[in-house]
Amino acid sequence: MRRDLFTEDHEAFRELARDFVEKEVVPHYPEWEKGGRMPREVFKRMGSLGMLGVEIPEEYGGGGTPDYRYNVVLQEEAARALVTLSTVRTQLEVILPYFLHYASAEQRQRWFPGLASGELLTAIAMTEPGTGSDLAGMRTTAVRDGEDWILNGAKTFITGGMQADLVIVVARTSTDPENRRKGLTLLVVEDGMVGFTRGRELEKMGCKVQDTAELSFVDVRVPAANVLGEVDEAFGYLGHNLAQERLTVAVGSVAQARSAIAATIDYTKSRKAFGTPVASFQNTKFELAACSTEVEAGQAMLDRAVSLHVDGELSGADAARTKLFCTEMQQRVVDRCLQLFGGYGYMMEYPIARLYTDARVTRIYAGTSEVMKVMIAKSLGL
Ligand SMILES: Cc1cc2nc3c(=O)[nH]c(=O)nc-3n(C[C@H](O)[C@H](O)[C@H](O)COP(=O)(O)OP(=O)(O)OC[C@H]3O[C@@H](n4cnc5c(N)ncnc54)[C@H](O)[C@@H]3O)c2cc1C
Repeated sequence: MRRDLFTEDHEAFRELARDFVEKEVVPHYPEWEKGGRMPREVFKRMGSLGMLGVEIPEEYGGGGTPDYRYNVVLQEEAARALVTLSTVRTQLEVILPYFLHYASAEQRQRWFPGLASGELLTAIAMTEPGTGSDLAGMRTTAVRDGEDWILNGAKTFITGGMQADLVIVVARTSTDPENRRKGLTLLVVEDGMVGFTRGRELEKMGCKVQDTAELSFVDVRVPAANVLGEVDEAFGYLGHNLAQERLTVAVGSVAQARSAIAATIDYTKSRKAFGTPVASFQNTKFELAACSTEVEAGQAMLDRAVSLHVDGELSGADAARTKLFCTEMQQRVVDRCLQLFGGYGYMMEYPIARLYTDARVTRIYAGTSEVMKVMIAKSLGL
């Protein structure tokens, strides 16, 4: 269906993104999958092409265009080529908004040029071994000591944690018996700070081109100058930014479901069974027709949500609805497409297998489907 989300400027960016992905990502992707991450030089290359700093103000080397749709284009172009730029996506769509919204003038000076150029890689550490969905239940603490905060705790499942130069750590700085959401603070921990160590790199079933790490903080002395935003107010910041994080996951889900259909059409046209192309069976046509309808429904909902987000009007509950629908739709579509590949669909050398294993996590991270339902139910007064 015709989409009316993008302008000529977005389409020009799409050309750049398409060219970059085809020439500088696709040929190296299998190698990056084996290495478990995208090399740092690629971030720098993307920085030099202006792809990392679109939203960063011009005075710090960015493009000065705070428009979420450029992120949508980048994800769509990666998915089109059957790859993902997961760590880049996390940096641009999940982490950068915290810096853009809450960094002080001095912090902007310190970090924005490196973020725009791709010199500084980042991670955000909310989840802990003992708590994920219930963020207010986190146990990592920071206690004030003179000009510093002393940080202690452990985080897990942190995307980009092995490579990050800056990690936004969410820590408890006070407790309020009346309000357990009060008292969380964002502290930016820098690579090399004493007491900050990276533990195991976790082995995942999919999303191979992004590292996922355990991080440990033992008496890490974090200068007060590295507090992002106001002390004790981070729960509100998370609530605000998680809407975009959820939208981001939905964007990837729809784009990848669409690519799964394209890959399946190609495959079933060339694969023969009983002397005829698999694409010629009515079952194949019906399955792909149904999948295509699902994707268009997801796209319509998603584009509406992106428009609302660009206008600053996307509610947390609507972001949750969009993530819930689009990620569950992705799972259905990719699974049905994989079936049409037969045994080859189960082999990792076929991109549909990668799409399948990558898809499984979208119903879990950035808030599980169940947590999305909790939020939606609340908006219904339940
Ligand atoms: C590949 C990957 C990358 C990730 N990257 C990051 C990252 O960069 N930074 C970060 O901080 N975190 C990251 N995460 C963590 C992710 O956000 C959490 O795994 C997720 O929020 C779920 O938390 P949990 O794993 O602790 O599950 P739990 O909270 O233990 O949930 C277990 C089950 O209980 C259900 N459940 C929980 N609460 C309720 C409820 N109220 N009602 C009904 N059911 C409920 C859940 O839906 C789930 O089915 C990542 C995770 C993965 C897998």
